[in-house]
Amino acid sequence: MTPDHDLAQRLADVRARLARAARRSGRLPDAVRLIAVSKTYPADHVRLAAAAGQLDFGENRVQEGLQKAETLRDLPLRWHLIGHLQSNKARKAATSFHAVHSVDRLELLETLDRAAAEAGCTPDLLVQVDLAGEATKHGLALEGLRQVLAAGARCRAARLVGLMLLPPFLEDPEQVRPYFRHLRELRDQAVAEGVVASEMVRELSMGMSHDFEVAVEEGATMVRVGTAIFGQRPRPVAG
Ligand SMILES: *Cc1c(COP(=O)(O)O)cnc(C)c1O
Repeated sequence: MTPDHDLAQRLADVRARLARAARRSGRLPDAVRLIAVSKTYPADHVRLAAAAGQLDFGENRVQEGLQKAETLRDLPLRWHLIGHLQSNKARKAATSFHAVHSVDRLELLETLDRAAAEAGCTPDLLVQVDLAGEATKHGLALEGLRQVLAAGARCRAARLVGLMLLPPFLEDPEQVRPYFRHLRELRDQAVAEGVVASEMVRELSMGMSHDFEVAVEEGATMVRVGTAIFGQRPRPVAG
């Protein structure tokens, strides 16, 4: 089998599993967007996935994402920034990515919105929530979340669309389920209490290669899947 056949096959498998999980949660497969996480994989792998119909891609570094986007600018791709974003790269991120999933502080939300307004673009923003309180992960603890959600309503150009979760890595996906469920409940609670309009938290970005089906069962609307599509990563990456 050729490498591109393998990739197309893995992509088709992930899509089929995603569709089954969506139906188990009483939703249509279209209700969940698959983001193929291409970090560390070369642009030609992205091109192969695009040829198989995949248009949303995730990168965790601004520079690497920009390079691939530039190489592949002949394709109608949507690039999602899913990794930690430093303030000094916020401007580039706001103007080059379709969505930023890693908004983990108020100041970053404001910087992204200002940059977007100045450049005349309208990136989607997702607020990264920290439910585990792990020191090594970025993300807003619950106390800070209300403040950022409220600020999302004041954005002029960027659009707050949802929440993102990067739970602790646990071998058994069932052990991650409570985190996924917690994010959904938190979202529902924020809406019920009038902290944020439901429209601004309609997306839940959660679930990776080893646990995306459980995430979909718990209400994910975006899953970020890398290795299950592209194969084992050529080099390890820091969060
Ligand atoms: C790398 C990464 C993923 C994808 O991980 P896989 O296990 O390869 O599916 C998802 N989300 C974030 C934030 C990542 O950094």
